[in-house]
Amino acid sequence: METMEKLSSEQLMKMEDKYGAHNYHPLPVVLAKGEGVFVWDVEGNKYYDFLSAYSAVNQGHCHPKIVDAVVQQSKTLALTSRAFYNDCLGPYEKFASEFFGFDKLLPMNTGAEAVETAIKLCRKWAYEVKGVQENKAKIVVCEKNFHGRTTTIVSFSSDEDSRDNFGPFPGGFEVVAYNDLDALDKALNDPNIAGFMVEPIQGEAGVFVPDDGYLAKAYELCKKHNALFIADEVQTGIARTGKLLACDHENVKPDILILGKAMSGGAYPVSGVLANDEIMMVIKPGQHGSTFGGNPVAGKVAIAALEVVRDEKLAENAQELGELFRSEVQKLIKKYNILKLVRGKGLLNAIVVNDSPDSKTAWNICVKLKDNGMLAKPTHGNIIRFAPPLVMTREQLLDCVSIIDKTVAEFEK
Ligand code: PLP
Repeated sequence: METMEKLSSEQLMKMEDKYGAHNYHPLPVVLAKGEGVFVWDVEGNKYYDFLSAYSAVNQGHCHPKIVDAVVQQSKTLALTSRAFYNDCLGPYEKFASEFFGFDKLLPMNTGAEAVETAIKLCRKWAYEVKGVQENKAKIVVCEKNFHGRTTTIVSFSSDEDSRDNFGPFPGGFEVVAYNDLDALDKALNDPNIAGFMVEPIQGEAGVFVPDDGYLAKAYELCKKHNALFIADEVQTGIARTGKLLACDHENVKPDILILGKAMSGGAYPVSGVLANDEIMMVIKPGQHGSTFGGNPVAGKVAIAALEVVRDEKLAENAQELGELFRSEVQKLIKKYNILKLVRGKGLLNAIVVNDSPDSKTAWNICVKLKDNGMLAKPTHGNIIRFAPPLVMTREQLLDCVSIIDKTVAEFEK
């Protein structure tokens, strides 16, 4: 039986505007259904999803195997808290640890929580293993980083909007330029440095890909200075960039690996931190936790989601289609003045629009893309991120390139 009258997109947007906090500025489309690479709005219009919920839906919308894991486990046992053991957590921790090649997993729910977990682990390791003096530990981070929205995390953001009027902030972070090894070397020289936290590609900032060799050399510098290399792969991880992890492109194994988003294929909030015993064992009972972290549904969902990534060879597909996407968009860049460049790895790409960063052009292009059946969103100013589900086919990708072609042509007139 219908319990709610069917509301139009217009009505639903007005309702959010009136009753919801205004902490987002969504594209004007109200989605009601998703399957694979497609989503449908309330009126039944079909779109290619080129955002994948910020890379959470790598496995495609409503993947039957993942949905089945949610449904079956929700009917059996959903939550115990960690006051008791549950029969899903151990198998999940074993699966995830072996899948990513670490001794242990610490399960959380959202990306920001996993980042906070990594910060706590890194500091505790610094005091208890490295021998840093009490309350002096510092973590080096990068300019234009995006690691989430908690007060600690925004304290080291370079985005004014993220920080403005949210202080006072905790200290203990040092910001260096991204992709600058000399700056990193200098910062790491301080004996109080506990670690270096980095996104292998800066996603939110606009898909900034560092120079080849940056991650490998940054890792070496961390080893030279006895600091932990912490990779935030919440957005880049789990096949998005054409390898299981973006660090795999440079054969770097982080000391602490932060994952979220696609760990569940978007079906459930699942995040976590992986590390070896020397680091993970510094945390003792009562020192960190979360009521929902490691719950039975999350465990079953994450195993299903990671199996899909492996069995459907999503990393390989992302690698192949990413190359195709960039080479096809290069042709459009030659054809249209309004497009400046394309960059990315695998299926995490961005097109930079040839206009000032404060212009509305990128936003207007996204609105037109929507009208033409494709959903994408600007990251910062004149940069549009293109990150479809990794289950996309070659034909679908080429279809999307023709939508971009047709849309951009409207802006050249
Ligand atoms: N870290 C990175 C690199 C991210 O891209 C994000 C979200 O976009 C986060 C952390 C925060 O994740 P969440 O929004 O799940 O808290």
